[in-house]
Amino acid sequence: MKNYDQNEPLVRDIRLSAADSFYGKGCDLLKCAEGGCLCNKNRSFWQANSCQLSLSLMMASTIENAAIIIHSPVGCGVNMSTLYSNVTGGRNKRGLGQNNLVWLSTNMQKVDIINGGEKKLRELIRYTDREYRPELIFVVAACAPSIIGDDVDDIVNSEKENIAADLAAIHCPGFKSRVVASAYDSFYHALIRHLKFEPEPYIDYNPDNYANPYNGDQTALYRYNKARTVNLFNATSMNPDDENEIVRLLQALDLNVQIYTEYSSRDKLRFISEASLNISMCDVHDDYILKYLEEKYGIPYVIQGMPLGKKAIREWLLKIAGFFGKEKDAEKICDYEEKRLDEALKPFLKTIRGKRVIMGGGVVRIAEEARMLKELGMDIITIRPYHYDNEAGGVYSEVAEEFPDTPVAVSTQVFELINQLKKYKPDIVVEHAGKHGWISKCGIPSVNLFSQARPFFGYAGEYAFIKNLAFHLQNNSYAKNLSKNVRLPYHKNWYEKDPYSYIKD
Ligand code: SF4
Repeated sequence: MKNYDQNEPLVRDIRLSAADSFYGKGCDLLKCAEGGCLCNKNRSFWQANSCQLSLSLMMASTIENAAIIIHSPVGCGVNMSTLYSNVTGGRNKRGLGQNNLVWLSTNMQKVDIINGGEKKLRELIRYTDREYRPELIFVVAACAPSIIGDDVDDIVNSEKENIAADLAAIHCPGFKSRVVASAYDSFYHALIRHLKFEPEPYIDYNPDNYANPYNGDQTALYRYNKARTVNLFNATSMNPDDENEIVRLLQALDLNVQIYTEYSSRDKLRFISEASLNISMCDVHDDYILKYLEEKYGIPYVIQGMPLGKKAIREWLLKIAGFFGKEKDAEKICDYEEKRLDEALKPFLKTIRGKRVIMGGGVVRIAEEARMLKELGMDIITIRPYHYDNEAGGVYSEVAEEFPDTPVAVSTQVFELINQLKKYKPDIVVEHAGKHGWISKCGIPSVNLFSQARPFFGYAGEYAFIKNLAFHLQNNSYAKNLSKNVRLPYHKNWYEKDPYSYIKD
């Protein structure tokens, strides 16, 4: 429990030997990571990178009746306005209705950097509680307070007695980690340290009632229900359509599904311990909280890639079914669903087969999607995971086997992507949101590796993804016209160099 007792979690660069610079073949990445040389790689030039703060804010902003205080100069909260529309869309699609996103900044100035920002933070916590009456206040500590040493945890712990709301500190010093995925751990650490994961007497149940299920005299019905209840963790890249598809598959195994932690609430979080299995949707999202829940409550967990593409869906569902002794049922479900999917995909296969694809994005998702597209006959010419850490080893052993000679680059860098696009001229690119403008300027169509617009997980997800891919392959005039009318900022010399020439040992 050592990690969980600290005020701040370790960043992933240290906890999971995460790395963000590599270029080689599919069979080399895992070897390099296991041999320890991956952590020694770096770049001699960086164009830009993301900061973990934005991802933690993304997760915190989905929590119901919560207010967010960003303890930083006001600029760190710049993406809160875009988060508002994302969260509103996510709530509407889940049928959750209106929930105003309240966020405030301590707006640290030069004088606060010299004298400390603790007084300002204390006052803002009390103001937020008084004015907005949230159930929960997240205090998000950015780079500046971490550098000058503001004791955010001390303030949060002492202010808990002075205000009505619950308080939780999220530590997101962007300068400490080059791996955005550290944000998952920061958010989960805040929940673990400051919130309760067990039903509370007199709030959730009456301990004086002899028949209540939590007083030690648990009924057979309670035990039966708990034994077939699973928690599904939906961190950031899982949209409502994905949730529906995954719940559909798990319910076909006769399981009850509780979804955590996004679009959850302080009160719902108290029931997180009321399940017999925790299920992650991605190897690099949730291990931090799942290991905690196993240590604290003895709840086992399943981390088995992402259910993207027939092969991975079968592996994922069988792993969960194995826990309940329902492997045969899972096999039957997969056989039935695959048959239906194969039929539905037939009209698109002619369009996508043999097309050359470059793929970039989250480390696990991009590998699973590459496996899916290869199975359908597409030619994967590069896989570009944004980072690599030890938790992704399982999926990358599949990559080493299925793509031994395919180039793999661990990279978020746009200048490397553009160079590669100009050189290899793929038919289409699968990328993370935020890169599509750049790709279109190269005259190449692209699709999101995930979005809020359509499902990606499960059988419904594979169908929607392939349909969208075929559409963009056939309708590419936007990118073609754009590329004729805009200039990219790079000098001609750059295109003559190797795209990954700045990666050094
Ligand atoms: S890197 Fe630091 S200063 Fe920059 S946005 Fe992130 S938290 Fe703020």
